[in-house]
Amino acid sequence: MDKGLQLYNTLTRKKELFEPLNAPHVGMYVCGPTVYSDVHLGNCRTFISFDLIFRYLKYSGYKVRYVRNITDAGHLEGDRDEGDDKFAKRAKLEQLEPMEIVQKYTLGFHDVLRMFNTLPPSIEPTATGHITEQIEMIKVIMDNGYAYEANGTIYFDVEKYSAKYNYTILTNRNLEDMLANTRELGGQDDKRGRLDFALWIKAKPETIMRWPSPWGVGFPGWHIECSAMSAKYLGDEFDIHGGGMDLAATHHTNEIAQSEACSHKQPARYWMHTNMLTVNGTRMSKSAGNGFLPGELFTGDHPLLERGFSPMTVKFFMLQAHYRSTLDFSNEALDASEKGFRRLMNAVSLLDKLTLSAESDFEIGPIIENCIKAMNDDFNSPVVIAELFEATRIINTVYDGKGKINSAELEKLKKLIGDFVFDIFGLKDEESSNTELNDVLDLIIDIRKTAKENKDYATSDKIRLGLQSMGIQLKDSKEGTTWNKA
Ligand code: AMP
Ligand code: ZN
Repeated sequence: MDKGLQLYNTLTRKKELFEPLNAPHVGMYVCGPTVYSDVHLGNCRTFISFDLIFRYLKYSGYKVRYVRNITDAGHLEGDRDEGDDKFAKRAKLEQLEPMEIVQKYTLGFHDVLRMFNTLPPSIEPTATGHITEQIEMIKVIMDNGYAYEANGTIYFDVEKYSAKYNYTILTNRNLEDMLANTRELGGQDDKRGRLDFALWIKAKPETIMRWPSPWGVGFPGWHIECSAMSAKYLGDEFDIHGGGMDLAATHHTNEIAQSEACSHKQPARYWMHTNMLTVNGTRMSKSAGNGFLPGELFTGDHPLLERGFSPMTVKFFMLQAHYRSTLDFSNEALDASEKGFRRLMNAVSLLDKLTLSAESDFEIGPIIENCIKAMNDDFNSPVVIAELFEATRIINTVYDGKGKINSAELEKLKKLIGDFVFDIFGLKDEESSNTELNDVLDLIIDIRKTAKENKDYATSDKIRLGLQSMGIQLKDSKEGTTWNKA
């Protein structure tokens, strides 16, 4: 029996049936990048995972409003309001305006995601474009008694909030332990409680990104932007909130607190977190120095890389792991993914070249059902890939004349590939989409045909063997000549 779409909810720590508040509409908010430097491959894994989720929800018939923000202000180096402003620091380093930094890395982020063939979100709001909404939200939180002003900075009062709500609901940590593990307040601190965090931060004389507010000139804290923008575009209550697992403990915990302190409602029903991309077991991050940039991966220009790998190979490598499992990067794993991806794409290119029979040795329906079942089981892409390899085996068997397929089953096979490989996984054939290569090969095949008609077998063999040495196999049949990559 079909159990419908089940997804793992961090909030309840179990898989649950997905029941949107307002079907067929679905509201999904995902925390986007902080655009003060290039995105690394770990960041990309999270955005590729949510692209898969977005695409599958749409395939399932939902009308999804997918909001993914751009953090372009307010993010200090420490997640708890310590340290320099990330944008200001980078601007000084690159001798640019902070907004030039924002522009440069936003464009870079979009370029990278385009290479991975991800869909753009429905709305991509920026923190700087929503200062008014953030100020309004802070005012309500203050009016409700959950925030206080200290010396031009507004802090969220975690102790007050915890008297009524559960501050650690998302991660189920013990509040006492959390307190014990947080730095004690010193004489310099304006905040009252160790876990209190800033909603609005007073500008220093040298602060460049600054806005007027009822509490003086300053800038918003990092967490408030997501609460304000998700409420604006998706409402006080919406369906899915996502991000990388590293965001749950602080950023998302604080988002829930802010939203509840403002509207008295839990903002999202399902909290989804993607697991980390690691290198030799260590989380890929800018600070650990193991964060390759996608560009370095494509060219192979990094000490940890033996050679370059194409964007679709990298995406296929990521889809071969479930989004909630860690995925460890290695050259060997990427080699294997490249072979697997080429095998799949080669089979896809043969789909239009299969000879039809009256009967079929294969049934494609069960493969499609298994793929849907796997995706309904918390977006289990690796299981779908195993099924796609079964489809690959069938295509190759028919192409080699060792099995039969009829037109009804072939149509199902084409639908399976169209839906899962292209629409849901968002993969594309980097080589056959190379139309120049296609055109050149069509011309060569035509010249060879003429040579054969003129009994010029020396030329026709030269063409066939020459292409073979380049890894391109020609296959002659009654219908004509086709080619594929060996
Ligand atoms: P940031 O720009 O640091 O705010 O991160 C953007 C997104 O990437 C967030 O959702 C992070 O949780 C996620 N992220 C950061 N590092 C990794 C990693 N190594 N693997 C997967 N996701 C990551
Ligand atoms: Zn966020």
